[in-house]
Amino acid sequence: MSTVRQIRAWLSARRRFQFVLTVAMVMLLTGTCVGLLMVPNPILPKLRATQQANAESLGQAQAGDPRLAQVRRTIEPFGQLVTRVVATGAGHESVVVGHPAQRSEIDVLASELGAATSAVTELWGPDWAQSTLVAVASAPAEFAALLHSVDMPSDVAAASIAEPFAPGTQPTAQRVVFSPDAGRRLSPDGLRTLLRHELTHVATRAVTVDGAPPWMLEGFAEYTAHRAQPHSFLDVAPTVTARVRTGELPTDLPSAAEFTGKSAVLAYEQAWTICAFIADRYDEPHLVALYRRIAASKQDPTSEDRILQEVLQTTRADLIADWRAWLSPRTA
Ligand SMILES: [Zn+2]
Repeated sequence: MSTVRQIRAWLSARRRFQFVLTVAMVMLLTGTCVGLLMVPNPILPKLRATQQANAESLGQAQAGDPRLAQVRRTIEPFGQLVTRVVATGAGHESVVVGHPAQRSEIDVLASELGAATSAVTELWGPDWAQSTLVAVASAPAEFAALLHSVDMPSDVAAASIAEPFAPGTQPTAQRVVFSPDAGRRLSPDGLRTLLRHELTHVATRAVTVDGAPPWMLEGFAEYTAHRAQPHSFLDVAPTVTARVRTGELPTDLPSAAEFTGKSAVLAYEQAWTICAFIADRYDEPHLVALYRRIAASKQDPTSEDRILQEVLQTTRADLIADWRAWLSPRTA
């Protein structure tokens, strides 16, 4: 094989084994989710080769779970394991894994996982695995290793990750990872909300294309996370509230760039308000239908306008105008 062909083959193999990582960067003091990140995975092939051996010592229910085998290999060097198996969905099992120092977070997440899975299914529908591996890291290095990321920002509180999968199929190996600080900085309510946010990314991953607009992806995850919880508009969107009260209404849907850095808190809150507005003005099935169309490809204002006309029978400009009008009385 020529050098050029070898390089092509190597590149193609790497692409195939890329993990896609969605990161909920959480401002830990406020519990607000603020980021999305895509990171390639360089070590999946090696992990796959060791899955079988690592699964041997597990109990019957978990032995066939390749996700746990992968995670065990990564986290065993960081200390003794604590594992909780939880019934989720109809006849499915999910697993929460971590170390004794994180036992309280592990217990909270294990107690919330069944209800969180049901909450996501209630809105999204049952066409997702409903079986998730949740890992709690005990150190920044372990957190980064679980997400196959070398430079995870310190204010990321949780992230979800999926192995590559063929278009039109469901991802088979997904996990949600919580940072070592998540339990210390977030209340049980914050952990519950963040778990639901990440599970939404897991549930919707099969129909979500990398590069799709974060106002839809993150807004929908936030909407699912806060849905049916006793959270007021001010609880979820304090920054939006403060700005609208001083007359600063948004003039456009938040751009992808606004979901990183200092503008991220506002962008995440705005994204939630857009989805809350659509669910309120139209209904939740229309919100879900819109997600499926918007998340299915990269978009620009023209393509968004076309989809909005097809799904909601409105234009992009009218949606923004109606959203602005909807915001004002909620922040009064
Ligand atoms: Zn997110």
